[in-house]
Amino acid sequence: MDSEFVRYDVNDGVAVITLDRPQAANAQTPQVLKDLNAAWDASDTDRDVRVVVFRSEGKHFSAGHDMTGGGSDPALGPKRIDGQLTVDTYYDWEERGYLHYARRWRDLVKPSVAAVQGKCIAAGLMLCWPCDLIIAADNAQFSDPVGLMGMPGIEFFAHPWEFGPRRAKQILFTASSITAEEARECGMVNEVVPLDHLAARTMEIATKIASMDPWGVRLAKRAINGAVDAMGFSNSIAANFDIHHLGHARAIAHTGGVTSVMADLAAMKAGNRKE
Ligand code: ZN
Repeated sequence: MDSEFVRYDVNDGVAVITLDRPQAANAQTPQVLKDLNAAWDASDTDRDVRVVVFRSEGKHFSAGHDMTGGGSDPALGPKRIDGQLTVDTYYDWEERGYLHYARRWRDLVKPSVAAVQGKCIAAGLMLCWPCDLIIAADNAQFSDPVGLMGMPGIEFFAHPWEFGPRRAKQILFTASSITAEEARECGMVNEVVPLDHLAARTMEIATKIASMDPWGVRLAKRAINGAVDAMGFSNSIAANFDIHHLGHARAIAHTGGVTSVMADLAAMKAGNRKE
């Protein structure tokens, strides 16, 4: 595929989607996300593909959304009215550009395995959480420090499901990270392996899955995701996306930006906020 930062390769039934932007710690621009989604789509329609591996190049898995804009085409960004972001257009843009992608990848009928190394920050979680299995290098660290920006957590709010409620609260309330081993303890990660074994072990598992009856694997995935949905997963994701946007709405109303930092809050407290 023709993408600056995304590679897509298929060998022996295994599609490997690689986010290749290590110079920016694999931060995600709208174009990167669009290209990643195109790769997931390709894996879905390619009849030779039985399993998807998601990985990234470099020291860190992903630093999250590219807050600098990353040289993206402005046309891929949120719609502005008279130069201003609005609550409704920003909601619409994040729903299409962030939330729908994560849900789409999670619900792909084919199985997927993520390989995570180094730091996986905030929206980095939205690249690995949708995958069915997660293999982590022993140097992996997971965090979602957007509470520092007046936000509850990222758009695909799977935190209680992935970390467990209490650990999710600690991570979010204190903007702290957990190690690969801690992530394995709470059930978010399947296996922790030495960094230099990450690629080999991930491919070993993917190859094993690819050797199975694809119909059996597909049904097992459907059964497990269906069970999790029956417990409320998808409804919770949808409801918490709205809560996420209460965070953006306050920032848009009071600062014109999409997040509030402590300086904004201090200005609000001092009575300098926009009314
Ligand atoms: Zn957001």
